[in-house]
Amino acid sequence: MSGSDRNLQSVNADPDWSPASWRLRPSRQLPTYPDAQALQDALSELHALPPLVTSWEILALKQRLAEAQDGRRFLLQGGDCAENFGECSSAVISNRLKVMLQMSLVLVHGLRLPVVRVGRFAGQYAKPRSADTETIDGITLPSYRGDIVNAPEFTAQARAPDPRRMIKAHARSAMTMNFVRALIDGGFADLHHPEYWDLGWVGHSPLADEYRRMVAGIGDAVRFMETLSGSEVHNLNRVDFYTSHEALLLPYEQAQTRQVPRQWGWFNLSTHFPWVGMRTAAPDGAHVEYFRGIRNPIAVKVGPSVTPEQLLRLVDVLNPADEPGRLTLVHRMGVTQVAARLPPLLDALRRDGRRVLWICDPMHGNTETTANGYKTRRFGNIRSELEQAFELHAAAGTRLGGVHLELTGEDVTECTGGARDLTDADLARAYRSTVDPRLNYEQALEVAMLVVRKQAQ
Ligand code: PEP
Ligand code: MN
Repeated sequence: MSGSDRNLQSVNADPDWSPASWRLRPSRQLPTYPDAQALQDALSELHALPPLVTSWEILALKQRLAEAQDGRRFLLQGGDCAENFGECSSAVISNRLKVMLQMSLVLVHGLRLPVVRVGRFAGQYAKPRSADTETIDGITLPSYRGDIVNAPEFTAQARAPDPRRMIKAHARSAMTMNFVRALIDGGFADLHHPEYWDLGWVGHSPLADEYRRMVAGIGDAVRFMETLSGSEVHNLNRVDFYTSHEALLLPYEQAQTRQVPRQWGWFNLSTHFPWVGMRTAAPDGAHVEYFRGIRNPIAVKVGPSVTPEQLLRLVDVLNPADEPGRLTLVHRMGVTQVAARLPPLLDALRRDGRRVLWICDPMHGNTETTANGYKTRRFGNIRSELEQAFELHAAAGTRLGGVHLELTGEDVTECTGGARDLTDADLARAYRSTVDPRLNYEQALEVAMLVVRKQAQ
Protein backbone atom coordinates (compact mmCIF):
# COMPACT_ATOMS: atom_id res chain seq x y z
CA MET A 1 0.00 0.00 0.00
CA SER A 2 1.42 3.42 -0.91
CA GLY A 3 1.77 6.25 1.60
CA SER A 4 -1.12 8.24 0.12
CA ASP A 5 -3.29 5.14 0.15
CA ARG A 6 -2.54 4.68 3.83
CA ASN A 7 -3.50 8.31 4.51
CA LEU A 8 -6.75 7.85 2.65
CA GLN A 9 -7.49 4.72 4.58
CA SER A 10 -6.88 6.42 7.90
CA VAL A 11 -9.28 9.27 7.04
CA ASN A 12 -11.93 7.16 5.36
CA ALA A 13 -12.04 3.90 7.30
CA ASP A 14 -14.54 5.01 9.93
CA PRO A 15 -15.38 2.24 12.41
CA ASP A 16 -18.94 3.64 12.66
CA TRP A 17 -19.59 2.94 8.99
CA SER A 18 -20.76 -0.37 7.60
CA PRO A 19 -22.68 -1.28 4.41
CA ALA A 20 -25.78 -1.33 6.66
CA SER A 21 -25.15 1.82 8.76
CA TRP A 22 -27.51 3.83 6.51
CA ARG A 23 -30.36 1.96 8.21
CA LEU A 24 -29.84 4.11 11.33
CA ARG A 25 -30.42 7.37 9.44
CA PRO A 26 -33.64 8.97 8.18
CA SER A 27 -34.30 7.71 4.67
CA ARG A 28 -36.30 9.06 1.77
CA GLN A 29 -37.69 7.52 -1.41
CA LEU A 30 -37.47 3.89 -0.28
CA PRO A 31 -40.42 1.55 -0.94
CA THR A 32 -42.18 -0.36 1.82
CA TYR A 33 -42.15 -4.04 0.94
CA PRO A 34 -45.31 -5.85 2.10
CA ASP A 35 -43.57 -9.18 2.81
CA ALA A 36 -40.48 -8.93 5.05
CA GLN A 37 -39.48 -12.57 4.55
CA ALA A 38 -39.65 -12.30 0.75
CA LEU A 39 -37.45 -9.19 0.98
CA GLN A 40 -34.89 -11.02 3.13
CA ASP A 41 -34.82 -13.97 0.74
CA ALA A 42 -34.25 -11.74 -2.30
CA LEU A 43 -31.47 -9.82 -0.55
CA SER A 44 -29.70 -13.03 0.52
CA GLU A 45 -29.85 -14.26 -3.05
CA LEU A 46 -28.49 -10.96 -4.36
CA HIS A 47 -25.72 -11.02 -1.82
CA ALA A 48 -24.54 -14.38 -3.16
CA LEU A 49 -24.69 -13.42 -6.85
CA PRO A 50 -21.49 -12.31 -8.61
CA PRO A 51 -20.77 -8.60 -8.92
CA LEU A 52 -21.30 -6.65 -12.17
CA VAL A 53 -18.01 -4.72 -12.17
CA THR A 54 -14.58 -5.05 -10.56
CA SER A 55 -12.61 -2.90 -8.13
CA TRP A 56 -9.84 -2.48 -10.78
CA GLU A 57 -12.26 -0.90 -13.21
CA ILE A 58 -13.66 1.31 -10.46
CA LEU A 59 -10.23 2.58 -9.46
CA ALA A 60 -9.24 3.10 -13.13
CA LEU A 61 -12.33 5.26 -13.61
CA LYS A 62 -11.50 7.23 -10.47
CA GLN A 63 -8.10 7.99 -11.96
CA ARG A 64 -9.71 9.22 -15.18
CA LEU A 65 -12.13 11.40 -13.28
CA ALA A 66 -9.17 12.86 -11.40
CA GLU A 67 -7.70 13.77 -14.80
CA ALA A 68 -11.00 15.34 -15.86
CA GLN A 69 -10.92 17.36 -12.64
CA ASP A 70 -7.46 18.61 -13.66
CA GLY A 71 -8.65 19.66 -17.13
CA ARG A 72 -7.04 16.74 -18.95
CA ARG A 73 -10.26 14.92 -19.89
CA PHE A 74 -13.93 15.64 -20.50
CA LEU A 75 -16.72 13.51 -18.99
CA LEU A 76 -19.67 12.46 -21.11
CA GLN A 77 -22.34 10.81 -18.96
CA GLY A 78 -25.63 9.87 -20.58
CA GLY A 79 -28.42 7.43 -21.12
CA ASP A 80 -32.06 6.88 -20.31
CA CYS A 81 -33.85 8.54 -17.44
CA ALA A 82 -34.82 4.98 -16.50
CA GLU A 83 -34.08 1.68 -18.14
CA ASN A 84 -36.96 -0.77 -18.16
CA PHE A 85 -37.03 -4.55 -18.31
CA GLY A 86 -38.91 -4.56 -21.64
CA GLU A 87 -36.23 -2.56 -23.42
CA CYS A 88 -33.26 -4.73 -22.52
CA SER A 89 -32.77 -5.52 -26.21
CA SER A 90 -29.98 -5.60 -28.74
CA ALA A 91 -31.24 -2.58 -30.73
CA VAL A 92 -31.86 -0.31 -27.75
CA ILE A 93 -28.49 -1.09 -26.16
CA SER A 94 -26.44 -0.77 -29.35
CA ASN A 95 -28.23 2.39 -30.53
CA ARG A 96 -27.58 4.09 -27.19
CA LEU A 97 -23.94 3.10 -27.46
CA LYS A 98 -23.78 4.45 -31.01
CA VAL A 99 -25.09 7.86 -30.02
CA MET A 100 -22.60 8.12 -27.18
CA LEU A 101 -19.75 7.05 -29.47
CA GLN A 102 -20.78 9.64 -32.05
CA MET A 103 -20.97 12.31 -29.38
CA SER A 104 -17.61 11.38 -27.96
CA LEU A 105 -16.08 11.47 -31.42
CA VAL A 106 -17.36 15.03 -31.85
CA LEU A 107 -15.96 15.94 -28.42
CA VAL A 108 -12.56 14.30 -28.92
CA HIS A 109 -12.20 15.98 -32.29
CA GLY A 110 -13.36 19.40 -31.16
CA LEU A 111 -11.86 19.58 -27.67
CA ARG A 112 -8.62 17.73 -28.49
CA LEU A 113 -9.05 15.95 -25.19
CA PRO A 114 -9.73 12.32 -24.31
CA VAL A 115 -13.32 11.72 -23.26
CA VAL A 116 -14.44 9.54 -20.34
CA ARG A 117 -17.64 7.78 -21.39
CA VAL A 118 -20.10 6.79 -18.69
CA GLY A 119 -23.52 5.33 -19.49
CA ARG A 120 -26.63 5.71 -17.40
CA PHE A 121 -27.23 2.01 -17.97
CA ALA A 122 -26.81 -1.54 -16.69
CA GLY A 123 -28.61 -0.69 -13.44
CA GLN A 124 -30.56 2.58 -13.91
CA TYR A 125 -33.83 1.02 -12.76
CA ALA A 126 -34.85 2.94 -9.59
CA LYS A 127 -36.64 6.31 -9.71
CA PRO A 128 -37.31 8.96 -7.05
CA ARG A 129 -40.87 10.31 -7.16
CA SER A 130 -42.37 13.59 -6.01
CA ALA A 131 -45.20 11.75 -4.15
CA ASP A 132 -45.37 8.32 -2.47
CA THR A 133 -48.82 7.62 -3.88
CA GLU A 134 -50.87 8.43 -6.95
CA THR A 135 -54.66 8.90 -6.99
CA ILE A 136 -56.75 8.35 -10.11
CA ASP A 137 -60.58 8.40 -10.05
CA GLY A 138 -60.62 8.15 -6.26
CA ILE A 139 -58.27 5.15 -6.16
CA THR A 140 -54.92 5.63 -4.40
CA LEU A 141 -51.96 3.32 -5.13
CA PRO A 142 -48.20 3.46 -4.49
CA SER A 143 -46.28 5.51 -7.08
CA TYR A 144 -44.28 3.71 -9.77
CA ARG A 145 -40.64 3.74 -8.56
CA GLY A 146 -38.91 2.11 -11.50
CA ASP A 147 -38.86 -1.49 -12.72
CA ILE A 148 -36.55 -2.59 -9.90
CA VAL A 149 -39.40 -1.85 -7.43
CA ASN A 150 -42.80 -2.20 -9.16
CA ALA A 151 -44.58 -1.93 -12.52
CA PRO A 152 -46.07 1.24 -14.09
CA GLU A 153 -49.63 -0.05 -14.76
CA PHE A 154 -52.20 1.48 -12.44
CA THR A 155 -53.36 -1.68 -10.65
CA ALA A 156 -52.83 -2.72 -7.04
CA GLN A 157 -50.89 -5.79 -8.12
CA ALA A 158 -48.55 -3.92 -10.50
CA ARG A 159 -47.82 -1.16 -8.00
CA ALA A 160 -47.07 -3.43 -5.01
CA PRO A 161 -43.27 -3.38 -4.42
CA ASP A 162 -41.91 -6.84 -5.30
CA PRO A 163 -38.43 -7.76 -4.02
CA ARG A 164 -37.95 -10.40 -6.76
CA ARG A 165 -37.63 -7.46 -9.13
CA MET A 166 -34.21 -6.74 -7.63
CA ILE A 167 -33.00 -10.15 -8.82
CA LYS A 168 -34.37 -9.44 -12.28
CA ALA A 169 -32.75 -5.98 -12.35
CA HIS A 170 -29.40 -7.53 -11.45
CA ALA A 171 -29.79 -10.09 -14.26
CA ARG A 172 -30.84 -7.47 -16.85
CA SER A 173 -27.95 -5.25 -15.78
CA ALA A 174 -25.56 -8.17 -16.25
CA MET A 175 -26.98 -8.87 -19.73
CA THR A 176 -26.65 -5.22 -20.71
CA MET A 177 -23.12 -5.07 -19.36
CA ASN A 178 -22.19 -8.28 -21.11
CA PHE A 179 -23.45 -7.06 -24.48
CA VAL A 180 -21.73 -3.66 -24.14
CA ARG A 181 -18.45 -5.30 -23.17
CA ALA A 182 -18.69 -7.81 -26.05
CA LEU A 183 -19.47 -5.09 -28.62
CA ILE A 184 -16.57 -2.97 -27.48
CA ASP A 185 -14.08 -5.82 -27.21
CA GLY A 186 -15.16 -6.95 -30.68
CA GLY A 187 -14.20 -3.61 -32.24
CA PHE A 188 -17.56 -1.84 -32.36
CA ALA A 189 -15.92 1.31 -30.95
CA ASP A 190 -12.94 1.18 -33.34
CA LEU A 191 -12.14 4.69 -34.56
CA HIS A 192 -11.14 3.16 -37.90
CA HIS A 193 -14.79 2.22 -38.42
CA PRO A 194 -17.10 5.04 -37.38
CA GLU A 195 -19.51 3.75 -40.03
CA TYR A 196 -20.50 1.06 -37.47
CA TRP A 197 -22.16 3.81 -35.47
CA ASP A 198 -24.38 5.03 -38.25
CA LEU A 199 -27.95 5.26 -36.98
CA GLY A 200 -29.43 5.81 -40.39
CA TRP A 201 -29.95 9.53 -39.90
CA VAL A 202 -26.73 10.65 -41.63
CA GLY A 203 -27.99 11.79 -44.99
CA HIS A 204 -31.16 13.49 -43.94
CA SER A 205 -30.18 15.38 -40.82
CA PRO A 206 -29.38 19.10 -40.88
CA LEU A 207 -26.27 18.15 -38.84
CA ALA A 208 -25.08 15.46 -41.23
CA ASP A 209 -22.53 17.54 -43.14
CA GLU A 210 -20.81 18.81 -40.01
CA TYR A 211 -20.66 15.29 -38.55
CA ARG A 212 -19.35 13.78 -41.80
CA ARG A 213 -16.59 16.39 -41.97
CA MET A 214 -15.48 15.45 -38.45
CA VAL A 215 -15.50 11.74 -39.23
CA ALA A 216 -13.40 12.38 -42.35
CA GLY A 217 -11.02 14.61 -40.36
CA ILE A 218 -10.53 11.94 -37.71
CA GLY A 219 -10.03 9.23 -40.35
CA ASP A 220 -7.29 11.37 -41.94
CA ALA A 221 -5.60 11.97 -38.59
CA VAL A 222 -5.67 8.25 -37.72
CA ARG A 223 -4.19 7.29 -41.10
CA PHE A 224 -1.54 10.01 -40.80
CA MET A 225 -0.44 8.78 -37.36
CA GLU A 226 -0.34 5.22 -38.62
CA THR A 227 1.76 6.19 -41.61
CA LEU A 228 4.21 7.95 -39.30
CA SER A 229 4.42 5.11 -36.81
CA GLY A 230 4.25 2.33 -39.41
CA SER A 231 1.65 0.43 -37.41
CA GLU A 232 -1.91 0.62 -36.22
CA VAL A 233 -2.68 3.07 -33.46
CA HIS A 234 -3.67 0.48 -30.92
CA ASN A 235 -5.62 2.23 -28.27
CA LEU A 236 -7.94 3.64 -30.92
CA ASN A 237 -9.38 0.16 -31.29
CA ARG A 238 -10.67 -0.02 -27.77
CA VAL A 239 -12.83 2.55 -26.11
CA ASP A 240 -13.62 2.11 -22.46
CA PHE A 241 -17.16 2.48 -21.30
CA TYR A 242 -18.17 2.76 -17.68
CA THR A 243 -21.58 2.39 -16.04
CA SER A 244 -23.48 4.56 -13.59
CA HIS A 245 -26.88 4.70 -11.97
CA GLU A 246 -28.67 6.53 -9.19
CA ALA A 247 -27.97 4.33 -6.17
CA LEU A 248 -31.41 4.99 -4.74
CA LEU A 249 -32.62 1.57 -3.62
CA LEU A 250 -30.23 1.13 -0.72
CA PRO A 251 -31.11 -2.49 0.19
CA TYR A 252 -30.10 -3.49 -3.35
CA GLU A 253 -26.89 -1.44 -3.23
CA GLN A 254 -25.97 -2.84 0.17
CA ALA A 255 -26.31 -6.41 -1.10
CA GLN A 256 -23.76 -5.66 -3.84
CA THR A 257 -21.32 -3.86 -1.51
CA ARG A 258 -18.25 -6.05 -1.01
CA GLN A 259 -14.70 -6.26 0.19
CA VAL A 260 -12.23 -7.59 -2.34
CA PRO A 261 -8.88 -9.36 -1.92
CA ARG A 262 -5.83 -7.11 -1.56
CA GLN A 263 -7.85 -3.90 -1.26
CA TRP A 264 -8.89 -2.05 1.88
CA GLY A 265 -12.42 -0.80 2.36
CA TRP A 266 -15.68 -1.48 0.58
CA PHE A 267 -16.76 -1.22 -3.05
CA ASN A 268 -20.20 -1.00 -4.56
CA LEU A 269 -19.78 -3.64 -7.28
CA SER A 270 -23.16 -3.08 -8.95
CA THR A 271 -21.79 -0.12 -10.94
CA HIS A 272 -18.60 1.85 -11.45
CA PHE A 273 -19.98 5.28 -10.66
CA PRO A 274 -23.12 5.57 -8.48
CA TRP A 275 -24.75 8.95 -7.89
CA VAL A 276 -26.97 10.47 -5.20
CA GLY A 277 -30.10 12.13 -6.57
CA MET A 278 -31.19 15.64 -5.64
CA ARG A 279 -34.04 14.43 -3.43
CA THR A 280 -31.86 12.16 -1.28
CA ALA A 281 -28.73 14.33 -0.85
CA ALA A 282 -29.35 15.53 2.74
CA PRO A 283 -25.95 15.38 4.53
CA ASP A 284 -27.34 13.43 7.52
CA GLY A 285 -29.70 11.20 5.54
CA ALA A 286 -29.42 7.50 4.76
CA HIS A 287 -28.11 7.87 1.19
CA VAL A 288 -25.20 10.13 2.06
CA GLU A 289 -24.36 7.81 4.97
CA TYR A 290 -24.15 4.86 2.57
CA PHE A 291 -22.12 6.76 -0.03
CA ARG A 292 -19.53 8.10 2.37
CA GLY A 293 -18.21 4.62 3.11
CA ILE A 294 -17.73 3.15 -0.37
CA ARG A 295 -14.53 3.62 -2.36
CA ASN A 296 -16.16 4.16 -5.78
CA PRO A 297 -15.97 7.55 -7.43
CA ILE A 298 -19.37 9.10 -6.64
CA ALA A 299 -21.50 11.95 -7.95
CA VAL A 300 -24.14 14.12 -6.29
CA LYS A 301 -26.89 16.06 -8.04
CA VAL A 302 -26.96 19.66 -6.85
CA GLY A 303 -30.22 21.56 -7.28
CA PRO A 304 -31.09 25.27 -6.95
CA SER A 305 -32.05 25.15 -3.26
CA VAL A 306 -28.60 24.02 -2.04
CA THR A 307 -26.71 26.72 -0.09
CA PRO A 308 -22.92 27.11 -0.05
CA GLU A 309 -22.84 25.99 3.62
CA GLN A 310 -24.84 22.84 2.86
CA LEU A 311 -22.61 22.01 -0.08
CA LEU A 312 -19.42 22.47 1.93
CA ARG A 313 -20.79 20.17 4.59
CA LEU A 314 -21.68 17.54 1.98
CA VAL A 315 -18.21 17.72 0.46
CA ASP A 316 -16.68 17.29 3.93
CA VAL A 317 -18.76 14.21 4.63
CA LEU A 318 -18.26 12.59 1.22
CA ASN A 319 -14.65 13.48 0.53
CA PRO A 320 -12.91 14.28 3.82
CA ALA A 321 -9.43 13.53 2.44
CA ASP A 322 -10.00 15.68 -0.69
CA GLU A 323 -9.13 12.66 -2.80
CA PRO A 324 -8.81 13.48 -6.54
CA GLY A 325 -11.51 11.88 -8.72
CA ARG A 326 -13.62 10.91 -5.72
CA LEU A 327 -16.40 13.48 -5.98
CA THR A 328 -18.30 14.81 -9.00
CA LEU A 329 -20.88 17.54 -8.46
CA VAL A 330 -23.63 17.58 -11.08
CA HIS A 331 -25.39 20.94 -11.06
CA ARG A 332 -28.94 20.94 -12.40
CA MET A 333 -30.31 24.39 -11.73
CA GLY A 334 -32.64 25.16 -14.63
CA VAL A 335 -32.26 27.87 -17.23
CA THR A 336 -33.79 30.63 -15.13
CA GLN A 337 -31.85 29.89 -11.93
CA VAL A 338 -28.36 28.85 -12.97
CA ALA A 339 -26.97 32.40 -13.17
CA ALA A 340 -28.09 33.22 -9.62
CA ARG A 341 -27.55 29.85 -7.90
CA LEU A 342 -24.35 28.45 -9.35
CA PRO A 343 -21.71 31.18 -8.77
CA PRO A 344 -22.00 31.24 -4.93
CA LEU A 345 -21.43 27.45 -4.89
CA LEU A 346 -18.43 27.66 -7.22
CA ASP A 347 -16.92 30.46 -5.13
CA ALA A 348 -17.47 28.68 -1.82
CA LEU A 349 -15.70 25.52 -2.93
CA ARG A 350 -12.88 27.37 -4.61
CA ARG A 351 -12.27 29.57 -1.58
CA ASP A 352 -12.21 26.49 0.61
CA GLY A 353 -9.68 24.85 -1.74
CA ARG A 354 -11.91 21.81 -2.34
CA ARG A 355 -11.22 19.72 -5.41
CA VAL A 356 -14.24 18.34 -7.21
CA LEU A 357 -15.20 17.61 -10.79
CA TRP A 358 -18.01 19.95 -11.82
CA ILE A 359 -20.38 18.79 -14.53
CA CYS A 360 -23.70 20.16 -15.80
CA ASP A 361 -27.00 18.31 -16.15
CA PRO A 362 -29.02 20.77 -18.28
CA MET A 363 -32.05 18.44 -18.34
CA HIS A 364 -33.57 18.10 -14.87
CA GLY A 365 -34.04 21.79 -14.07
CA ASN A 366 -35.91 22.31 -17.34
CA THR A 367 -38.79 19.84 -17.24
CA GLU A 368 -42.25 21.22 -17.99
CA THR A 369 -45.70 19.97 -19.00
CA THR A 370 -47.21 21.11 -22.30
CA ALA A 371 -50.82 22.18 -22.79
CA ASN A 372 -51.47 18.81 -24.46
CA GLY A 373 -50.26 17.00 -21.34
CA TYR A 374 -46.72 15.85 -22.25
CA LYS A 375 -43.77 16.12 -19.90
CA THR A 376 -41.13 17.77 -22.08
CA ARG A 377 -37.95 19.85 -22.13
CA ARG A 378 -37.28 22.58 -24.67
CA PHE A 379 -34.00 22.28 -26.50
CA GLY A 380 -33.49 26.05 -26.34
CA ASN A 381 -33.59 25.92 -22.52
CA ILE A 382 -31.20 22.96 -22.37
CA ARG A 383 -28.81 24.79 -24.69
CA SER A 384 -29.06 28.03 -22.78
CA GLU A 385 -28.43 26.42 -19.37
CA LEU A 386 -25.36 24.68 -20.74
CA GLU A 387 -24.03 27.82 -22.41
CA GLN A 388 -24.53 29.82 -19.25
CA ALA A 389 -22.82 27.09 -17.23
CA PHE A 390 -19.66 27.33 -19.36
CA GLU A 391 -19.65 31.11 -19.00
CA LEU A 392 -20.28 31.06 -15.24
CA HIS A 393 -17.45 28.59 -14.66
CA ALA A 394 -15.09 30.68 -16.78
CA ALA A 395 -16.04 33.79 -14.79
CA ALA A 396 -15.53 31.98 -11.46
CA GLY A 397 -12.16 30.54 -12.46
CA THR A 398 -13.46 26.96 -12.24
CA ARG A 399 -13.83 24.39 -15.01
CA LEU A 400 -16.91 22.69 -16.34
CA GLY A 401 -15.45 19.25 -16.97
CA GLY A 402 -18.39 17.32 -18.35
CA VAL A 403 -22.08 16.95 -19.15
CA HIS A 404 -24.78 14.65 -17.80
CA LEU A 405 -27.65 14.01 -20.24
CA GLU A 406 -30.77 11.95 -20.72
CA LEU A 407 -30.65 10.60 -24.24
CA THR A 408 -31.59 7.63 -26.35
CA GLY A 409 -30.51 6.19 -29.68
CA GLU A 410 -34.15 5.72 -30.63
CA ASP A 411 -35.84 8.24 -32.90
CA VAL A 412 -38.20 9.61 -30.25
CA THR A 413 -39.97 12.96 -29.96
CA GLU A 414 -39.83 13.79 -26.26
CA CYS A 415 -37.90 17.09 -26.12
CA THR A 416 -39.00 19.95 -28.39
CA GLY A 417 -36.76 22.14 -30.57
CA GLY A 418 -33.35 21.13 -31.91
CA ALA A 419 -32.14 20.78 -35.49
CA ARG A 420 -35.56 19.64 -36.69
CA ASP A 421 -37.38 22.15 -34.55
CA LEU A 422 -39.88 19.70 -33.04
CA THR A 423 -43.06 21.36 -31.78
CA ASP A 424 -45.48 20.47 -28.98
CA ALA A 425 -47.70 18.86 -31.61
CA ASP A 426 -44.81 16.55 -32.69
CA LEU A 427 -44.54 15.07 -29.17
CA ALA A 428 -47.46 12.71 -29.75
CA ARG A 429 -45.70 11.07 -32.72
CA ALA A 430 -43.02 9.08 -30.86
CA TYR A 431 -43.20 9.71 -27.13
CA ARG A 432 -41.95 6.55 -25.42
CA SER A 433 -40.48 7.49 -22.04
CA THR A 434 -42.41 6.37 -18.94
CA VAL A 435 -40.49 8.91 -16.88
CA ASP A 436 -38.46 11.93 -18.11
CA PRO A 437 -38.20 13.16 -21.74
CA ARG A 438 -34.90 12.29 -23.46
CA LEU A 439 -32.88 13.90 -26.22
CA ASN A 440 -33.14 11.92 -29.44
CA TYR A 441 -29.90 11.10 -31.27
CA GLU A 442 -29.96 14.24 -33.34
CA GLN A 443 -30.54 16.53 -30.35
CA ALA A 444 -27.83 14.68 -28.42
CA LEU A 445 -25.31 15.20 -31.18
CA GLU A 446 -26.26 18.85 -31.32
CA VAL A 447 -25.39 19.17 -27.62
CA ALA A 448 -21.95 17.68 -28.31
CA MET A 449 -21.36 20.22 -31.09
CA LEU A 450 -22.49 23.00 -28.78
CA VAL A 451 -20.01 21.93 -26.08
CA VAL A 452 -17.21 22.10 -28.63
CA ARG A 453 -18.28 25.58 -29.76
CA LYS A 454 -18.45 26.88 -26.18
CA GLN A 455 -15.12 25.39 -25.16
CA ALA A 456 -13.44 26.90 -28.20
CA GLN A 457 -14.58 30.43 -27.22
C1 PEP B 1 -32.49 11.74 -12.77
O1 PEP B 1 -31.27 11.90 -13.02
O2 PEP B 1 -33.24 11.03 -13.46
C2 PEP B 1 -33.07 12.50 -11.64
C3 PEP B 1 -34.18 12.11 -11.03
O3 PEP B 1 -32.36 13.60 -11.36
P1 PEP B 1 -32.40 14.61 -10.10
O4 PEP B 1 -32.06 13.80 -8.90
O5 PEP B 1 -31.33 15.60 -10.47
O6 PEP B 1 -33.76 15.22 -10.08
MN1 MN C 1 -34.62 11.81 -15.12
